Amino acid sequence: MSMTSVRKEVAISTGTTGLRLASLNLWGTAACRGPHQEIFFPPTVTETRRAKRRREARAKEICATCPIIENCLSIALQRNEQHGIWGGLTEKERRVLAASSN
Ligand code: SF4
Repeated sequence: MSMTSVRKEVAISTGTTGLRLASLNLWGTAACRGPHQEIFFPPTVTETRRAKRRREARAKEICATCPIIENCLSIALQRNEQHGIWGGLTEKERRVLAASSN
């Protein structure tokens, strides 16, 4: 299991029971499952802006094909996820979206 899977499962498992159960069923169809999962979160080493832009663009391309993109974004917004690409949006983009819907 990759670090991205672990991070998402930990994030999900600490949520409410209903959210956790719904999420566990959904993640099996997530487009980010597989060898490219690491691109959804910043690396543990310093990342250049250019490398970050490329990584995030690639992650967003994968999200665009994901059958659960709306669920993923909804969960990220509910949980106020602070890191990574969720539902096709970066953390900054999710903050802007959340602020605009308040
Ligand atoms: S929307 Fe993106 S981050 Fe969310 S489950 Fe799908 S591929 Fe993964």
